[in-house]
Amino acid sequence: MAGKAMLKIEGLHVNYGAIQALKDVSLEVNEGEIVSIVGANGAGKSTLLNTIAGLVKPAKGSITFQGKPVPRASHQVVEAGIALVPEGRRIFGTLTVRENLLMGAYLRRDQKEIQADLEWVYQIFPRMKERLTQVASTLSGGEQQMLSISRGLMSRPKLLLLDEPSLGLAPVLVQEIFRQIRRVNHQGVTVLMVEQNANQALRLAARAYVMQTGRVVMSGTGREMLANPEVQDAYLGKRRRAAGA
Ligand code: ATP
Repeated sequence: MAGKAMLKIEGLHVNYGAIQALKDVSLEVNEGEIVSIVGANGAGKSTLLNTIAGLVKPAKGSITFQGKPVPRASHQVVEAGIALVPEGRRIFGTLTVRENLLMGAYLRRDQKEIQADLEWVYQIFPRMKERLTQVASTLSGGEQQMLSISRGLMSRPKLLLLDEPSLGLAPVLVQEIFRQIRRVNHQGVTVLMVEQNANQALRLAARAYVMQTGRVVMSGTGREMLANPEVQDAYLGKRRRAAGA
């Protein structure tokens, strides 16, 4: 199902003052794929997504999307077809589910299209339709994450950037959110996802990159990464044991 490179990042460097958060990062996302980025705290994963989304300025390197440089301003990035679902959800707690969803459509013009997009989102997340008039802060954690993803989908992205979608969710909800990400992908949306839950993220991904202190240190198919002893040791909570140990 993977096609040509949709997103191509080459030699990306990002600094926060004296801190080098990304050092020479290169990676690709092909059309139709789910690509996961795993790595420990502070590896630079959020910085990478925020840089693609136009929220952080790179010091060096290039980011191209469908063959063109990704615009610098974040609203233009959305217009180009890339939506970021940030870490920690950042929904508008005092607004209803419906109002939150409409915030995600703020760049869209016509009411008919917005209505069609709402229907599309309800089809993927029926729970959102049931909760339209509920104030967002009263949703459960899992529902808030669904709302955050749904809001991202309201800009009709070709590429969805997901920052830690399973963070803070109970195990049963983690399973559900990953199932829903797969469903979003089956709707034709390419996904680049950052996750601390490496096990689930690698199972879901066609391909994956491992980041460590600002660099990509390993890459391969999700399956290869799951089977890799170093990945198992560092990120999957499995211990390598010497024979007979
Ligand atoms: P986590 O999983 O903990 O969110 P991460 O892999 O997403 O980690 P980033 O949040 O991208 O990592 O951070 C990469 C490095 O940049 C860290 O050392 C972090 O402290 C630093 N950093 C991130 N944001 C800023 C900022 N606004 N100002 C200064 N340093 C920052």
